[in-house]
Amino acid sequence: MEGIRHIFFDLDRTLWDFDANVDITLREMYTRYGLDKHISSPEVFIAEYQFQNQRYWDLYIDGKITKKHLRTVRYRKTLEVFGIKNKTMAEQMGTDYIMLSPLQKMVFPDTHKTLDYLKEKYTLHIITNGFEEVQHIKVKSSGIDHYFDNLITSEKAGALKPHRKIFDYSMKLVKAHPEQCIMIGDDPEKDIHAALNIGMQAIYFNPAGLTINGVKSISNLNELMEIL
Ligand SMILES: [Mg+2]
Repeated sequence: MEGIRHIFFDLDRTLWDFDANVDITLREMYTRYGLDKHISSPEVFIAEYQFQNQRYWDLYIDGKITKKHLRTVRYRKTLEVFGIKNKTMAEQMGTDYIMLSPLQKMVFPDTHKTLDYLKEKYTLHIITNGFEEVQHIKVKSSGIDHYFDNLITSEKAGALKPHRKIFDYSMKLVKAHPEQCIMIGDDPEKDIHAALNIGMQAIYFNPAGLTINGVKSISNLNELMEIL
């Protein structure tokens, strides 16, 4: 694409299949902790966990609880719903999850093929809302680390997408102007509008086929090989 030199990808739910990987991890934990004795199925456990996780993740984003607290409390509250009052177990599960989930390898279809193609023509980077140590493990486990010159996390940049600060930080780091850059991601606000607002171009990735008015949208990563 004319004038474009740098491509910035979001990581979770854009390249790394976050939901599939979390699902695999939680199923492993359901077995490891013998939760079948208390909870009827892994699906029931996962649904409750997702609810509690969202609730406490929102509080973390608002700065109301710490990262450390988030990691444990989402399990403590999930277990309590099923009548398990065990703080030590919740803490252990919180630690296990942080260890196990980034080791999962599922990426979206055609990720490698598409990145192979793009790497020949552009410089590739990742901008992700997430913790330093976790996001680095994900790209390594899934075998995509070698495609990217920079992995920029919100923790490192000191701001979360959609805040301008993380994009300014990224531009400075790769020594580029926004008009030379394109952002690809699955979140309309955090990836797409945030990038457009600072003058980058953007492509919306939505595997379910949703689109955003006036924005180029794709449902499979391999479509990037025609666009870029
Ligand atoms: Mg995402």
